[in-house]
Formats: sequence, structure tokens, C-alpha cells
Amino acid sequence: MNIHEHQAKKLLKEFGAPVPNGVYGLSVDEILQKSKLLKTNKYVLKAQIHAGGRGKAGGITIASSFDELKQAANQLYGKTLITHQTGPKGKKVERLYVEEASNIDKEFYLSCLVDRKTSKITFISSLQGGMDIEETAIKNPEKIITTKVDFNKEISETDCEKIIKVFKLEYDAKDQGLELIKCIYKMFREKDASLVEINPLILTKENNIICLDAKIILDDNAIFRHPEHLELRDLKEEEPTEIEASKHGLSYIKLDGNIGCMVNGAGLAMATMDIIKLYGQTPANFLDVGGGASKEKVSAALKLIVSDNHVKGVLINIFGGIMRCDVLAAGVVDAASEIKIDLPIVVRLAGTNVEEGNKILKKSNLKIIPASDLSDAAEKIVNAIK
Ligand code: ADP
Ligand code: MG
Repeated sequence: MNIHEHQAKKLLKEFGAPVPNGVYGLSVDEILQKSKLLKTNKYVLKAQIHAGGRGKAGGITIASSFDELKQAANQLYGKTLITHQTGPKGKKVERLYVEEASNIDKEFYLSCLVDRKTSKITFISSLQGGMDIEETAIKNPEKIITTKVDFNKEISETDCEKIIKVFKLEYDAKDQGLELIKCIYKMFREKDASLVEINPLILTKENNIICLDAKIILDDNAIFRHPEHLELRDLKEEEPTEIEASKHGLSYIKLDGNIGCMVNGAGLAMATMDIIKLYGQTPANFLDVGGGASKEKVSAALKLIVSDNHVKGVLINIFGGIMRCDVLAAGVVDAASEIKIDLPIVVRLAGTNVEEGNKILKKSNLKIIPASDLSDAAEKIVNAIK
């Protein structure tokens, strides 16, 4: 789960990390009212969207007076920002954050994430942070330092030293840097985060360390341990079809292609997506209806797939183990009785109650194309949408 910068900074602050004082608002009036509480006359106005690259896209403004802030907030609110992380559609700004401006001396990069290959928590640090980190990663990868930490243990002083060494901090700032690594590590583990990225982490002209930007991803699989994380969710930032899918307990991820897929089991779903590619087309989604899906769940899944207007055809690939093929067929027919579906649907059924399933589908008025195996199914759906 992605959260906003202002929420990430609040979390960091709770764990003792240094962040600028800031306020957020859901309207221009609210943000201006709250900004009066800040003890500064140099404000930074920041668009709150679930994407980075805001600085280069006009989403960050430094205002030297309250009037300037007012003008900037009016301009930014409601605007659609297109950054290298939003995709071409961009994201509409409906949440603003204002914080006290810092006197930046240097901008560093710091992040903490899970390295799946080694099953370790990994810190990445670089002297060259800020808005051009992507360029550094390509042109000067040697300037990026990786430190792996065993997540079962507390982080050692040696690891902390290694992580911040590239920043070349001195005196107080060095102590603050070491302390910050411990804060981030503690928060990462206690909150079940999968990413904490501070870019930039800055050294101020007063020789202090401050987290000037913050991106945190919280692990959805750990929500049961942190019900409070659900309050941080911003549904406006999520794909509406994915929200709908989560209501029905479906694992659904929208993709860019035009063949909708309904499959049971994540492995089979991935194999189905692969074979669609092999036959020259692209899947419109990943969808796993799960092991013992009900008729209602199947029906909801099919409605969801066809609600995407890029979908030109549907491939249903079900292996009936715990899931029964007749239940699948009944769900498909149910969905079709509620909404008009005139797309070609290729169905490959195998396993428990396959004959009953096929009978139910045959009796319906759907444009069903039966397939014998996975290759046959992929070939048929690719031809059908031509
Ligand atoms: P993004 O990564 O989305 O572009 P950032 O929060 O990193 O957004 O801001 C971009 C740049 O704006 C930073 O690299 C920094 O130079 C400047 N900036 C951001 N917040 C502040 C602040 N509180 N004070 C001074 N400058 C800031
Ligand atoms: Mg940033």
C-alpha cells in the first residue's frame, strides 16, 4: 500500500526521525488556514499524489510570503500533474502539503527495502541524491552504496556507519545520521514496510540532517497486524477496478492489453498471461479468482473484466480442483444475464465437474468458444479478437 508524503513523514516523526514541520489540507482554504500555524515565512507547497518526480513537473513550489503561497496553492489545486511516475494520464492534485523551507547544503539519497534474492533488509545510500538519482544510477552506479542487514537482528553500529559513510557527515550531523538509520530500521520492521525512500535526505547549512521527502510502502499482507494502516489508504489514488476487486476478495491487477483473463491460482494465471504473449497479444489484467470461488465471486470477476473498455475478448482458464467447473460456468452465465457481454469468450475447463460445466455454458446464449488445452485457448482468443 502506497501512502502520501505527509503520512510517511508523520510515521517517520513518530519514530524520532527529523522531518520539517508541515501541515496538510484537502482544499485551498484548509491548507491556507493551517499554514498560518507554521512559524516561518518561507513555505514549500507540495502536491500530494502517489508519485515522485513532482519537483520537475511543477508540483513543488517555494513561496517567500503567505501571499505567494496563496497564489501557488490556488494554481496547484485541481491541476493534473504528469510526472515520470504517473503515466501519461497524470494524477489530479486534491491534497496539498505545506512545510517550512529548509536551507539545503547537500542532497543525499537514502532508502531501505527488502532484497528478495538475499531475504535481507537492504539500505541504499548515495551522495548524489535529489531529483536526478535515476541518472546517477545509470551513469555512476559505483556512487550508490548497498548495505544488507539481517532482519532478525538489531542493526549494528558498523552497518549504520557503512550506510552513512558516503555522506561524509561531521560532528552532530554524523550522530544524527547514525540515529536516523536506527529510526528507519525500527520503523521498517515494526510497521511491516517494504520500502522507505528518503530522497532527498539533506544536510542543512546549519549542519543538521533532515528527511525532506519521504516515500513509504506498507506491506498489504501485514494489514491484519496493523488495522490502523487502512486509515492511510487514499482510494482516489487507486484503480477503481482494483478497489472493486478487493471488495470481492479477488486478486486483480489491471494491465495494458486487451485480452481479459479469468483464472484460478496465481501460477496458472501467470502461465496464462505468458501464453497470451507467446501468441502475440497482451493480457488486460491478472485475475486469480482463488481456490474455492463461489458463483457470485466468478460473476463479479467477469463483470470486472468486461468493465475495462480495452478488453476485446476474454480467456477463461480454470483447472477444477477445489473449484468446481459447474460453479464457474454458473457464475459466468449469471454475469451474462445481468450485463450485456458480446465479446468472444474462450473457455478452457478441466477437472472436477467439467462435463456439467460445459453443459451449462453450451445452453447459455454467450459467444463461447471451447478450447481443449492452454495453447489451443490462447490461439483461439488471439484469433477471435483479430
Ligand atoms: P519529488 O521527489 O516528487 O520531486 P521532493 O519532495 O523530493 O519531490 O522535492 C523536490 C525538491 O524540492 C527537493 O529535491 C528539494 O530540492 C526541494 N524541496 C522539497 N521540500 C523542501 C523543503 N521543505 N525545503 C526546501 N526545499 C525543498
Ligand atoms: Mg523526492
